[in-house]
Amino acid sequence: MSDQTVNDQARRYSSQTGGRHAVVIGASMAGLLAARVLGDHFERVTLIERDAFPASAANRKGVPQGRHLHALLVKGEQIISKLFPGLTSDLTEGGAIRFDLPGDVLWHHFGGYKIRFYSGMTIISMSRPFLESQVRSRVLALDNLTCLEQCDVDSLLADRDRTRITGVRVHKRSEGSQEEALDADLVVDATGRGSRSPGWLEALGYSAPEESVVKVGIGYTTRIFRQNPDSLPGAKAIFTMPVPPHGKRGGALFPIEGGRWIVTLAGWLGDHAPAEEQGFLDFAESLASRDIYNAIARAEPLSDFVTHKFPSNLRHHYERMNRFPEGYLIMGDAICSFNPVYGQGMSVSALEAEALDDCLKEIAGRDRLQGLARNFFARATRAVDNAWSLAVGEDFRFPDVEGVKPAGTDLINWYVSKVHKGALHDREIARAFFQVMNMTHPPATIFRPGIALRIIKNSLAYRKPDPAQ
Ligand SMILES: Cc1cc2nc3c(=O)[nH]c(=O)nc-3n(C[C@H](O)[C@H](O)[C@H](O)COP(=O)(O)OP(=O)(O)OC[C@H]3O[C@@H](n4cnc5c(N)ncnc54)[C@H](O)[C@@H]3O)c2cc1C
Repeated sequence: MSDQTVNDQARRYSSQTGGRHAVVIGASMAGLLAARVLGDHFERVTLIERDAFPASAANRKGVPQGRHLHALLVKGEQIISKLFPGLTSDLTEGGAIRFDLPGDVLWHHFGGYKIRFYSGMTIISMSRPFLESQVRSRVLALDNLTCLEQCDVDSLLADRDRTRITGVRVHKRSEGSQEEALDADLVVDATGRGSRSPGWLEALGYSAPEESVVKVGIGYTTRIFRQNPDSLPGAKAIFTMPVPPHGKRGGALFPIEGGRWIVTLAGWLGDHAPAEEQGFLDFAESLASRDIYNAIARAEPLSDFVTHKFPSNLRHHYERMNRFPEGYLIMGDAICSFNPVYGQGMSVSALEAEALDDCLKEIAGRDRLQGLARNFFARATRAVDNAWSLAVGEDFRFPDVEGVKPAGTDLINWYVSKVHKGALHDREIARAFFQVMNMTHPPATIFRPGIALRIIKNSLAYRKPDPAQ
C-alpha cells in the first residue's frame, strides 16, 4: 500500500458532491454482498479488509474456513446471481460443476439413500476461494467503491451523545502507520464470528447483546483429490450424514473446479477425523455408507490435510437490544455463525444483503438513516431464525449437545425424522425436504397436509425394523 492516508484512498472515487458514504468492515462473503447492495444506495462505499487479496482464487488467512467444503444453497445462488448477472455462467465456464439435487447425489441418512430423481433443483459446486474471488472482482469493479486492503478497524466513532455511529478508527497493517479516523454515514460490521461489535458497542455505553450458544464440538478434516469418476459411477457428489445419537460422523465429497474433488469429513462432539492418510481413510470407511471411502481409496491426493474446529452455533441477538446506535449494522457470521455442516452461512449472508436492499429502498430519498438498524435486524432475524431452527434442531438430536433447547424441539425432530425416512422412498417428501434445506421454501413446507399424509403412508408401507430408529 502507498503512503497515502486511508482518507486519501477512500476519496479516490468519490464524486465531488460530498454525498453519503458507507463503510463495510470485512471483505469476505457477507461484506462483499453488503458492499454490492450499498453501492446502489450510497454515493461511495469503502470496503476495509485486514488481509491482502490473493491474485488468484487462493485461500487467505482471514477466511480459514475457505479451505473446507463450502456448499452454496439454492437460495444463496438465486440472490447472488441477481446481484451479479452473469456470475454463475462465469463460474461454470471456470470449472464449477452444476448438479441436480437429489438426482446426482448419493445422499445417505437415516438408514438409506434419499430417493434419486432429477428434480430440476440444481446447485453449483466450486471451491470457496473461487466463488469469493469471482464475487470480489465484481465488487471491486464498482465505480463508487474503494477497497482498503491490509487495513484493520480498531473501533467505532460516535457522535457526542453516542446515539449515532459516525465512522471508524482504522490503521494500515504497515509498519509505523498511524491510526486514522474515517467518517461514514453508515458502518457495516461484516468481520465474521470473531466480530468485536459487542465490545465496541459496550465501549460506547451500550449493553452487550444476548447470546445463544449451542455447543456441538464439530471438527472438519479436508483433503483435495483428483476426480476419479470411475469410482463414483452415476453420481457427482456424496453426502453421508450420521444418525444420532450413536453416529457422530459424517462426510461429503463435492466436485470443484480443476477436475478436483473436495472431501470433508466431519465429526460431532470431539469425534474428529485424523489429519493423516490411514486415519482419514479409516474414518471415511466408518461412515454410515462406504461411498466416500470407495471414491477416495484409490484417488490421487492433491493437497495436504487441513482441519478446522467449530465449537458452537453462536448467535448474537442484536434485534433484542433496547438501545442500538443509528448508522450501524452487523451482518453475516458476526450476527450468527451456524454449524457449517448444514451449509447455511453464505446463503444467510445473501438473505441479509437482500433485506438490507429492501430496507434502503424503503427510505430512499430521505436525508437520514433513522430506523434503518431496527428495520434491518427485524428482517435479518427472520432469515437467521429459519436457519437457526434447522441447524440447532438437528444438532439437538445428539443428547450431549449443550445449549438451551427451544421448546418443542424433540417433537419437531420426531416428525423431521419421519421426513428424512420418507425422503428415502417418496419423491414429493424428498422434494419438500430439499426445498426447505435449500431455503427456497419456509420450514412449514414439510408440515403441509399433503406431505404429512405421504409421511403416514410411508411409515405404514416401510414399517420394517430400522437401524436409524
Ligand atoms: C468449516 C466451515 C465450513 C463452512 N461451510 C459452509 C458451507 O458449506 N456453506 C455456507 O454457506 N457457509 C459455510 N460456512 C460459513 C461461511 O464460511 C460464512 O458464513 C461466510 O463466509 C460469511 O461469513 P462472513 O463474511 O460473515 O465472515 P468471514 O467469512 O469470517 O469473514 C470475515 C472477514 O472480515 C475480515 N476482518 C476481520 N476483522 C477485521 C477487522 N477488524 N478489520 C478489517 N477486516 C477484518 C477477515 O479478514 C475476513 O475477510 C462454513 C464455515 C466454516 C467455519
